[in-house]
Amino acid sequence: TTSAVRETTATTAGDIEELDRRHLIHPHQTRMRADRRVIVRGKGSTVWDAHGRARLDVTGAGNWVAQVGHGREELAEAAAEQIRELAYFTCFYEFSNDKAVQLAARLADLAPAGLNRVYFTGSGSEGNDTAIKAARLFHHRNGETGRTWILGRQFGYHGASYGSGTVTGFDLMHQGVGPNLPHVERLSPAWPYHQEFYQGQDPTDFLVAELEQTIERIGAGNIAAMIGEPVLGGGGVVAPPEDYWPRIRQVLRAHGILLIADEVITAYGRTGAWFDSAGRGMDPDIIVTAKGLTSGYAPLGAVLLSDRIAGVVADTDDFFFHGHTYSGHPSSCAVALRNLRLLEDENLIARSRQIGEWFRAGLAKAAELPAVGEVRVEGAMVGIELVADRATRQPQSPMAAVAACDELYDRHDLILRHYGPTIVMAPPLVITEEEVARAADGVTEVLQRLGTDGVIRGH
Ligand code: PMP
Repeated sequence: TTSAVRETTATTAGDIEELDRRHLIHPHQTRMRADRRVIVRGKGSTVWDAHGRARLDVTGAGNWVAQVGHGREELAEAAAEQIRELAYFTCFYEFSNDKAVQLAARLADLAPAGLNRVYFTGSGSEGNDTAIKAARLFHHRNGETGRTWILGRQFGYHGASYGSGTVTGFDLMHQGVGPNLPHVERLSPAWPYHQEFYQGQDPTDFLVAELEQTIERIGAGNIAAMIGEPVLGGGGVVAPPEDYWPRIRQVLRAHGILLIADEVITAYGRTGAWFDSAGRGMDPDIIVTAKGLTSGYAPLGAVLLSDRIAGVVADTDDFFFHGHTYSGHPSSCAVALRNLRLLEDENLIARSRQIGEWFRAGLAKAAELPAVGEVRVEGAMVGIELVADRATRQPQSPMAAVAACDELYDRHDLILRHYGPTIVMAPPLVITEEEVARAADGVTEVLQRLGTDGVIRGH
């Protein structure tokens, strides 16, 4: 189209919002949301919109991402330096670059023992697709060609491409775009607050039995892998019982089924460790990461493969015929290297747990409110599940969570998000104690006005 506006630099905030409505398709777009929140600048845990209004970013750039905070000169420098030197060159075939190699070696060093091989992607979705393909190919090349099924979980979020989207346990992702990836089965989530999933049994006992029955039904010889987040993120920040992953792991191993840990949210310090799965007894064959790897300063994901799997899919005379143009992108890798150094030098990994304690204290009063079912804290990751009835734990309508987040945005200048009926926080790991208190006070104030009918009363 011939538009008078070639660049938006000269337009007002209102103009940008109007152009947005006209031209930009947003992820998860719906016409129900006519407002636009155009964010133009950030520093630490604060961002500014196009109107110049400051808001506290309590969600890590809105997407569990901004580990080291906004506006870091060190990362701007790392990106600029690398772009001047070599912005991009392919990693296909025998080509390589120094930053991709250094980052792969660094990740192997940080990863649990035995995970020494790294494939770079541009996103978490590409990472999970890579993991699914690698798992199937591993079995195929080992002569177990029937092992094609992937086990996912209800409320698991793994991405929006066909592979990652199909293993994602939200029906909205599958509706109207099928056929989706075949040979995917979904298990129940490990969600202790909702005992109704488990028919009166101990949750882990139920879930282990369900897994065993599923394996029996599909046939162990037909299953390639199970995929799961150590802690459900998009499901609403849900940690499993302590014995869940160790026992699930044991069953999978007994049947030759691989385990893929989706750590796109949890890796790089979000819950207080470089890799969350390490402390949860998952012992995965593959770890998928993205987001915090660069704190969002450049798009990048990393899939960590065990030596055993890499040996079969990558170290043979056959091709691992799987490639993305931006795999091992030098500029993204340079940013990641500097970002990992910041996480280490500023002790941000351990700081996550401190942030979690501040939230726990700040939200103590909110946790007792009639409209709040449960406050869940896993390091710098918080979920507040809203209920219509505390006694029965009946979830509140997601629309109430939407309204609460809007109220927090409009009246308290706080950026939070909701996943279903759960309000979620995942702030930059540089957030201060005062900022956490401000966020917790705002949330408490709004939730005090939220009735169990889902309606927010006046100010
Ligand atoms: N896995 C998990 C656990 C995620 O939370 C996400 C994104 N929120 C993804 C995978 C997909 O990552 P991306 O959006 O970068 O494709």
